[in-house]
Amino acid sequence: MNATNAQETAAAVVPCPFCGTLNRVSLGRLEDRPVCADCQKPLLLDRPVFATDDQLSRVISGATVPVVVDFYADWCGPCRMMGPVLDEVARERAGELLIVKVNSDQNPVSPQHYGVRGIPTLIVFKDGQEAARQVGYAPKATLLATIDGA
Ligand SMILES: [Zn+2]
Repeated sequence: MNATNAQETAAAVVPCPFCGTLNRVSLGRLEDRPVCADCQKPLLLDRPVFATDDQLSRVISGATVPVVVDFYADWCGPCRMMGPVLDEVARERAGELLIVKVNSDQNPVSPQHYGVRGIPTLIVFKDGQEAARQVGYAPKATLLATIDGA
């Protein structure tokens, strides 16, 4: 498959923030403003999406683009510092990667499954497999190097 075909077929499985339905979205056509198949509300991919324990494995395995999972908690200072960095990367790289946030207090199963020992932990998945991991806060340049070097 060449680069052009890869772009055309880029897709991700995205949890609807309103109703929780998992939607398969073609990332080559974000200008068409994808909406949830169930509740018809917009699926906004220029920002991180949120996934639960039940959804995470399907989101990771369903994407043809890199998936960056941020295991975080609301009370965690470094996680709060990481937030704007992730927002920025999601906006700049919309359609090229998916940033998925997992609240580790509300979703304790997946952090354990992926061996998360401290937060924030960011894991980069490519083709459904872990390709890189970053523990603790990192500035944007470091995060991008981790994603692109994976
Ligand atoms: Zn929905």
